[in-house]
Amino acid sequence: MSTAHHYKPNVRDTLFNLFEFLEIQKTSLGKAPFGDIDEATVRQTIDTMIPVCTGIMSEAFTEGDRIPLDFNPKTGAVTMPPLMQKAFASYFETGMHLLDLPSHLGGLGAPPTLAWGSFEFVIGANPAAAFSFLGNVLARIIDTMATEEQKKRFVGPMLEKHWGGSMVLTEPDAGSDVGAARAKAKLVKDDLWHIEGVKRFITNGDIGEVVENTIHLVLARPEGAGPGTKGLSMFIVPKFLVNADGSLGERNGVYCTNLEKKMGLKASATCEMTFGDSKPAVGWLVGNVHDGMRQMFHVIEHARMAVGLKSMATLSTAYLNALSYVKERKQGADLKSARDKNAPRVTVIHHPEVRRMLMMQKSHAEGMRALILFNASLQDQVELLGGHKAPEAAEPNALNDLILPLIKGYCSEKVYDLLSLSLQCYGGSGYLQDYPAEQYIRDQKIDSLYEGTTAIQALDLLMRKVAKDGGATLQGLMGRISQTLETNEGGDELKAERASLGEALGHLQAGLGSLMEKLGDSVYHVGLQGNRVLYSLAEVTIGWLLVRHAAVAVQKVKTATGPDVAFYEGKIASARFFCAEVLPQTGFAMQQVQKSSLAIMELSEEAF
Ligand SMILES: Cc1cc2nc3c(=O)[nH]c(=O)nc-3n(C[C@H](O)[C@H](O)[C@H](O)COP(=O)(O)OP(=O)(O)OC[C@H]3O[C@@H](n4cnc5c(N)ncnc54)[C@H](O)[C@@H]3O)c2cc1C
Repeated sequence: MSTAHHYKPNVRDTLFNLFEFLEIQKTSLGKAPFGDIDEATVRQTIDTMIPVCTGIMSEAFTEGDRIPLDFNPKTGAVTMPPLMQKAFASYFETGMHLLDLPSHLGGLGAPPTLAWGSFEFVIGANPAAAFSFLGNVLARIIDTMATEEQKKRFVGPMLEKHWGGSMVLTEPDAGSDVGAARAKAKLVKDDLWHIEGVKRFITNGDIGEVVENTIHLVLARPEGAGPGTKGLSMFIVPKFLVNADGSLGERNGVYCTNLEKKMGLKASATCEMTFGDSKPAVGWLVGNVHDGMRQMFHVIEHARMAVGLKSMATLSTAYLNALSYVKERKQGADLKSARDKNAPRVTVIHHPEVRRMLMMQKSHAEGMRALILFNASLQDQVELLGGHKAPEAAEPNALNDLILPLIKGYCSEKVYDLLSLSLQCYGGSGYLQDYPAEQYIRDQKIDSLYEGTTAIQALDLLMRKVAKDGGATLQGLMGRISQTLETNEGGDELKAERASLGEALGHLQAGLGSLMEKLGDSVYHVGLQGNRVLYSLAEVTIGWLLVRHAAVAVQKVKTATGPDVAFYEGKIASARFFCAEVLPQTGFAMQQVQKSSLAIMELSEEAF
C-alpha cells in the first residue's frame, strides 16, 4: 500500500458551506472589493486546485517525511527533497498564490471565504509545503504597513519572484513570553538598522535555492527601548540585501545556524537563525519603533487561522482515508450473528464501535470546517464594510477576534485526540507507514504548540477578547445562538438537537458567570479553567453551526437526487450525533468550572 496519494479532499462539504449555508454568491461575490469574482470563478478555482493537491502536493507529503531536509552548516542552506521542490513550484505555476492578493498587487481579490476554503486543500495535502508560501502572505501584510520606498524595494519582487518568508519571534528564552526577547536593533540611519541576536524554531528560516531570496519579518528591541512587548519593533531582514529598484544585492548577515530534528512535519525547516554574528544583519524598520508587536499580530492572526485550518484539514483527510479502509477490510461477523460460526464475514464498518469512531471524526471535521468558514465569512464582512479600521466593520471584526482562539486552540487540541480514532479504525495496520494515519498524528501535533500554545489561546480568549469589551462580543455570539433556538430553525425534525444546544448554552452561561465571580477571588481560576471554557465555547458554537447546517439539509434532502441524498442525510446525522454525544459534555465541564479549586496552586512544588 502506498501513501503517495494520501490526500482525500471533501470538496462537497466546502461547496455546501460556501454556497448553500453561507451563500457567498449573495453576500460577498460580485461586491467591492470582491467585484471580479463570481460563483463560476470559485468553482473553477477549486476544480483547478484539486488535481494539484491530490497529485504532486500529496506525493511530496510522504517523500518530505521519509527523505530528510539537507542542511549545510558551512553555508547555512537547507535543501528540500526533490518532490517538495516540485510541489513548491506547482503552487505558483497554477497561480494559486494570486487568489487572495488584492488587484493592486496583481491578484484576483478573492474573499477570505474562498481563500481559506480553497487553502484547506493545499494545507490538507501537504502542510509543510503550505507554510513555505508565507512570503506571499508577508508581502501582502508589508504592503499595508511599509513606506512607499520599502514597498517598491520588497513587495513587488517578493510577489513576482516568489520569495520565501519567515516570521521571527521566538528565542531560546522567549517562547510564550515573546516580550522577553533580547535580539537587539542598532540604528544605522533613517529606517536602516543592524539586528543582533539568536532566534530559534523559525519555520522556513532557510529553504535554500528553491527561492532566490527569503524575507524575514523580525521582532527586535531597539537599543535603549523598555522591557516587554512594548519595547519591540518589527524589521524586514532579507537573506540577500535588496536594492532600491528591487534587484538583489550581496548576502546579508542572517544565517541558519542549526536545523532542528523533530517528531513530524519534517519537510518544514525549523531553523535556528543567527543575526549579525559574522557580518551585520541589515534590517528595515517597518512603521514606527515600539509598534512591532501590534504589527506582528497581523501575521500571527493569519498564522493562527492557518494552523486551525491545518488541523481541521488533517482530520478531514484522515477520516476519509479511514472510511475507505473500513469499507474494504473484512473482519468478523455482524455482532447480531457473532455466535454463528458460519455467518458471513463483514467489512469493519458494520461494527458499532467503528461506526461511532467514524461519526465522531465526521461530525467534528464538518463542525470545524463550519466554524472556520463562518469566521472567514466574518472576514468577508469586514472587507465589505471598509476594512479593520472602519467603524461599520467593528462587530464582525470583534467576533472574528473572539473566534480565532477557538479555531486555533480547539481544533489543534481536539484533532490530536480524534486522529487517534482515525488510526484505531485500521487496527494494527494504522500503526504502519503503509497508511497515512501515523504521519498525520506526527505532523499535526505541532498545531497545539506553535503560534501560541493552547493555554496562551485560552488566556487570549478570556483576558483579552472577552474582557476587552466587557463580554459584549461574547454576548453577541450567544445571542445569535439563542436566536436559532427561539426561531425554531430546522423545525420539528431538529427539535431534540435544539433542546440539546439550548441546554449546553445554559450550562456555558452558568459556568462563565461563576468564573467571573471566582475571578474576584483569584485570577488563577481563569488559568485553571481557561482551556475548559475555550473547548466548551468552541463546542457550543460548532453545535450551533451544525444544527443550522442540518436545517438547510432537512429542506434540501426533500428534493435531492443521486449522491446528494446521502450527503444531506450525512449532514443531518452529523448534527444529531454532535448534539447527542458531544454537547452534553458542556454540563460536566461547567460543573468543574463552578467547583474550581485553588488546591493545586497552593501545593508545594515538592509534592508534585
Ligand atoms: C516546529 C516549530 C515551528 C515553529 N515556528 C516558529 C516560527 O516560525 N516563528 C517563531 O517565532 N516561532 C516558531 N516556533 C516557536 C513556537 O511558537 C513556540 O515554541 C511556542 O510559542 C511555545 O514557546 P516555548 O516552546 O518556548 O514553550 P514555553 O513558552 O516554554 O512553554 C512551556 C509550557 O508552559 C506553558 N506556558 C508558558 N507560559 C505560560 C503562561 N503564561 N500561562 C500558561 N501556560 C504557560 C505553555 O503552554 C507550555 O505548556 C516554532 C516552534 C516549533 C516547535
